[in-house]
Amino acid sequence: MNSRSRSLTPDGCVRGLNPRPIYRGRFAPSPSGPLHLGSLVTAVASYLEAKSRDGEWLVRIENLDPSREVPGSSNGILKTLETLGMEWDGEVIYQNKRNKAYQTALALLEERRLTYPCICSRKEIADSSIAGIEGPIYPGTCRNSFLHKDLSAWRIKTNDNLIEFEDALRGRFRHLMESDIGDFVLRRADGIFAYQLAVVVDDAEQGITHIVRGEDLLNSTPRQIYLQRLLGYQTPMYMHLPVVVNARGEKLSKQTHAAPVANSDAVSQLIMAIRFLGQTPPKELKEGDVTSLWDWIIKNWKPETIPLTPRSCQQLLNFSQM
Ligand code: GLU
Repeated sequence: MNSRSRSLTPDGCVRGLNPRPIYRGRFAPSPSGPLHLGSLVTAVASYLEAKSRDGEWLVRIENLDPSREVPGSSNGILKTLETLGMEWDGEVIYQNKRNKAYQTALALLEERRLTYPCICSRKEIADSSIAGIEGPIYPGTCRNSFLHKDLSAWRIKTNDNLIEFEDALRGRFRHLMESDIGDFVLRRADGIFAYQLAVVVDDAEQGITHIVRGEDLLNSTPRQIYLQRLLGYQTPMYMHLPVVVNARGEKLSKQTHAAPVANSDAVSQLIMAIRFLGQTPPKELKEGDVTSLWDWIIKNWKPETIPLTPRSCQQLLNFSQM
């Protein structure tokens, strides 16, 4: 594995990487369990996008919340990626070591009076808000009070700006920040930084140019672009993939008891993911090794044939029989 060095350079670049990459992608799993088929699809697509364009592919472990981290799963996920022949560039970054960077970004926003402490409980918010695109729209109760307690969450003020971007698979996507989403949390009352802030800081500091991830995060992207603009960061290109769902139509996750990727049969697991992504590897590759499979698929990768609808785990498993 080419984790050549262990730290970031003073300007935040990952050592051992090209300082000006044309394409730098990443895979950012949350270690709440082993790698499952849904996250395998994201890993494979992000790897293929990067490698087919001669780009770099980084791995970041998103373990902001210790209560959701399953011991051993970070190493398990990395081990599975290795078994599948997916080599990452540079070092692996762990979000639980990056609080200082998130605090610096929060302080920058705070200095510009773009954030405020919020002491509302979930119940108070639920009782006084209208529904937004993703959960309740915070009614702004604490916006002008500046009453700061140790147990305050920190929110970012939104305005009526339209945030719009072009997704590589889904085309134009937009949100009106204030009326679709509302002021959102950057640091929770228990001191844990929110995913939205951490991911924006990490993607910028790691110099990520392209983000490939599941469609379940499409609604988060305008929030992230909003923060990128406030913090003066570049906005990467985005591609949101169809998700793998279970028989009830729920996205595969630890909570929906997704089966882990088996380390024993790397080739058929990869073929399954590749077929799910609308690619058609020749049958004989099934009898070969992981290296020949990657050689073929990197050369023949066609993101334009990725289907746009979610498909079930059963369909995915059927692909391994073909
Ligand atoms: N950590 C997130 C997950 O495992 C992915 C976040 C991202 O790709 O931005 O679903």
